[in-house]
Amino acid sequence: MATLPIVQYEEKIVETVERNPVVVIIGETGSGKSTQLSQMLHRRGYGKIAVTQPRRVAAVSVARRVAQELGVPLGEEVGYAIRFEDRTSHNTRIKYLTDGVLLRESLANPELNEYSVIILDEAHERSLNTDILVGLMKRLVRVRSSNLKVLITSATLDGEKVSKFFADCPVLNVPGKLYPVEVLYSKERPSSYLEASLKTALDIHIHEPEGDILIFMTGQDDIEKLVSKLEDKVRALEEGSCMDAIILPLHGSLPPELQETNLTNKHLKNVAGLSVRVFSPPPPNCRRIIVATNIAETSLTVDGVVYVIDSGYVKQRQYNPSSGMYSLDVVQISKVQANQRAGRAGRTRPGKCYRLYPSQVYHDELLDVTVPEIQRSSLAGSVLYLKSLDLPDIDILKFDFLDPPSSESLQDALKQLYLIDAIDENGAITSIGLKMAELPLEPSLARTLMEANNYGCISEALTVAAMLSAETTLLPGQRKTEKKRKHPISNLPDGSGLGDHIQLLQIYEWWDQTDYDIGWCKDNGMQVRGMLFVRDVRKQLSQIMQKIAKGPLDVRASGKMDEFRQDYRNLRKALCVGYANQLAERKMHHNGYRTLGFQGQVVQVHPSSVMSSDELGKFPDYVVYHELIATPRPYMRNVCAIEMKWVIPIINKLNSLDVYKLSGGIDHVEEESEKNLPDLSKKDVEVAVTADDRE
Ligand code: ADP
Repeated sequence: MATLPIVQYEEKIVETVERNPVVVIIGETGSGKSTQLSQMLHRRGYGKIAVTQPRRVAAVSVARRVAQELGVPLGEEVGYAIRFEDRTSHNTRIKYLTDGVLLRESLANPELNEYSVIILDEAHERSLNTDILVGLMKRLVRVRSSNLKVLITSATLDGEKVSKFFADCPVLNVPGKLYPVEVLYSKERPSSYLEASLKTALDIHIHEPEGDILIFMTGQDDIEKLVSKLEDKVRALEEGSCMDAIILPLHGSLPPELQETNLTNKHLKNVAGLSVRVFSPPPPNCRRIIVATNIAETSLTVDGVVYVIDSGYVKQRQYNPSSGMYSLDVVQISKVQANQRAGRAGRTRPGKCYRLYPSQVYHDELLDVTVPEIQRSSLAGSVLYLKSLDLPDIDILKFDFLDPPSSESLQDALKQLYLIDAIDENGAITSIGLKMAELPLEPSLARTLMEANNYGCISEALTVAAMLSAETTLLPGQRKTEKKRKHPISNLPDGSGLGDHIQLLQIYEWWDQTDYDIGWCKDNGMQVRGMLFVRDVRKQLSQIMQKIAKGPLDVRASGKMDEFRQDYRNLRKALCVGYANQLAERKMHHNGYRTLGFQGQVVQVHPSSVMSSDELGKFPDYVVYHELIATPRPYMRNVCAIEMKWVIPIINKLNSLDVYKLSGGIDHVEEESEKNLPDLSKKDVEVAVTADDRE
């Protein structure tokens, strides 16, 4: 450890922290910020230390490392907490946690009195939650000036900007020990990044001296494809022609808690934590080829990398407040990111970075810095959270952000919250909103649970919420592609013609009926670890709901297909209330739907939906959708049939909405966009076709 650059600055760091409530620390990725700062302050006798990480995988992996360095079992003196998993005890003195979890903790205790040091790590990532925490810390250091130290660390962040934000607090620069990295550009952009990465990696492997290769791809699918191609090619190389190679994927999709806690579970041997494997050194005369998402850019440092292959792209989720639509776009990285990626090659000796794009692209096209998440996310959850804090001096609309979100997205968040009863017409949080904020779920699902509790279907709603929370790791292929759907490899339930939420419920209930049989998952193409995760999430949500309801609830999954529940009326009603912002009406002439709300737009049911396999004529007149995604056509993902009579009160509420009042009378930036609300009161039960639907 003595070799980590930050260690040489220990005295200076500790002294500066001693004298100042807020300190910004800038240091190269891998210089030891995440693992060492907490230990330094722990050694100096500071009380409990919180270190936030924007990524779950990083929180788990760094906690594990620090526990190892201190020679203590993970979960005792050093622990971590991520959504749906807390691995700490009353002995924990150094706690790694995601920024979202710290925000949630401050709900119960806005002063965060438990901690004497709060380190906001990886602030350069500009995650939405870290940005909000930065804003909250400004208040916290004021109210707890005598007994709180705040450190903000970053690999690349503009230190002066943060320093100014905190009344010119000191900025410590920890010079990194970076070896020169030769940057090689492609002459032109390749037609396939996957093929170009494959070719470049093989060239390096065959011709270049030892040293690991790190390849940046955009997502899990591409990573898996490239790993498999690399494995084939490397295997085909003549024995003895070059050294051995181990190919390793690295991405954040595996639920880290499963990587960590279930390693001993015999069913989960194969999911032995990715981060465990990338941190083990390779055997002699063997090169590792690590194929990663941008998680390896700054969050996780893999030692031994000498060659970096940079596609120049990253997958980014963006939210458009004017359409309520998400898109998962592959976008060009910023110059800061490109430099970070290159830097990964020069940690242990001089390295090489192969940029699969021309230098002109780097200079002329890449943005200087990455757009902060706060400027490309839906803010409904954050606004609800800030409102629920009930701090007289915190007003979301005047909140002091490092970079403020647009007023359009703030207003979008307020409208969303109003429609699901989380705030009243004056923008004040309601009692429902306060309870919703306690659930670690997006507002639509939190509201659904509250309503389900009133309708006596909390058990079903808990299952749906848990299944949706784990969906990315749940069903490989099974519900994902149309092709597979037409040739099902199992006879999973079909949602009874009512949609995806109902199908998810039925799947879980069937599994519950088998007493959580692992073989059942395999036979039905369901991921074992995903289903175990759902069970765990469901249990935790049940506990929180019992607390909110202040009494026992019947939260057992029914485990049987109850004849009386076949139309799942109460659950669908609860979903309609929770998803009041996400409703759509069938439009015959568009072979699809039109969303109800401020920017009604024509959308279709996503091909992965259980509904999309139904005959067109059977599509319900009204649906709720879990999210709207542009891929690039606008699609609704996860839809559920609802009834017109449940929609009417929501439309009435929409009609009565006054954005000016909602915003507390300030900042009425834009005239309300022309509302696109069907007048259901005058309408026949048949779906009316309005003139503009025919264009
Ligand atoms: P920074 O926060 O400045 O990017 P870190 O403290 O994360 O730096 O990393 C410092 C060193 O610790 C790096 O060499 C990294 O490889 C190593 N390290 C971090 N986490 C682990 C882990 N879980 N296992 C093994 N080594 C790790």
